[in-house]
Amino acid sequence: MRKPFIIGNWKMNMGFDEAYEFIDGLIERLSTQQLDVFVGIACQSPLLVPMIAEFYHEEIFLGAQNCNDHLSGAYTGEVSATILNEIETDFCIIGHSERRQYYNETNESVNKKAKLLLDYDIKPIICVGETLEQFENNHTKEVIEKQVKDCLKDLDIKKCVIAYEPIWAIGTGKTATTAIAQDICSLIRENLRAMYGDKADEVTIQYGGSVKANNIKELMACPDIDGALVGGASLNLDEFVAILTYE
Ligand code: PEP
Repeated sequence: MRKPFIIGNWKMNMGFDEAYEFIDGLIERLSTQQLDVFVGIACQSPLLVPMIAEFYHEEIFLGAQNCNDHLSGAYTGEVSATILNEIETDFCIIGHSERRQYYNETNESVNKKAKLLLDYDIKPIICVGETLEQFENNHTKEVIEKQVKDCLKDLDIKKCVIAYEPIWAIGTGKTATTAIAQDICSLIRENLRAMYGDKADEVTIQYGGSVKANNIKELMACPDIDGALVGGASLNLDEFVAILTYE
């Protein structure tokens, strides 16, 4: 039985005060709810240290939005899996389309990052997804299959989370239909089954791309969708709480 995992990806938003106010509010609002999902927030790296210290005993997982594919060295401006481990980061998003687009992240580097994160006991949240052009030209299946094969090879797969994020749905207000989202998440699981056998059934697969309070319920009803990676809507406390309590 897979317990869903919903993560808010704050991207390069939220300063110290806003972040504290948000998490305090989130804890208060969730204290009266019986949640059926794990909750995570991915914030800017400098926020992680104080947030992890402050919210250590709370049931909210805190994560980074990237790490480097080397453990240490002359990589100015980068963050290592080792230091994320030292500050007890729970998870780290890798392969997000914004990193692939602006910082040339490749399937190969995503795979290296996933291995390092697992070595350092941090859950990798591994993003895959096709561009609008690939979607319109009916290349989604082959793009996703290649990303899955290359990003997810030789991993302790049960400890990973996969996020299917069609790039054309990120921050655009367009959500993939539930049928598309379910089809591709099911395709990902089928490919995982070919690589890892029955372990595929234990892997959490999230959908991401303009998830909101008004579409989460039908997405979560899909058999292969086990949660969501939420960008814009995770910056608004009311909206994020409504997503987490979608029932
Ligand atoms: C994301 O950044 O991972 C994302 C899904 O963003 P949004 O929800 O804003 O589309």
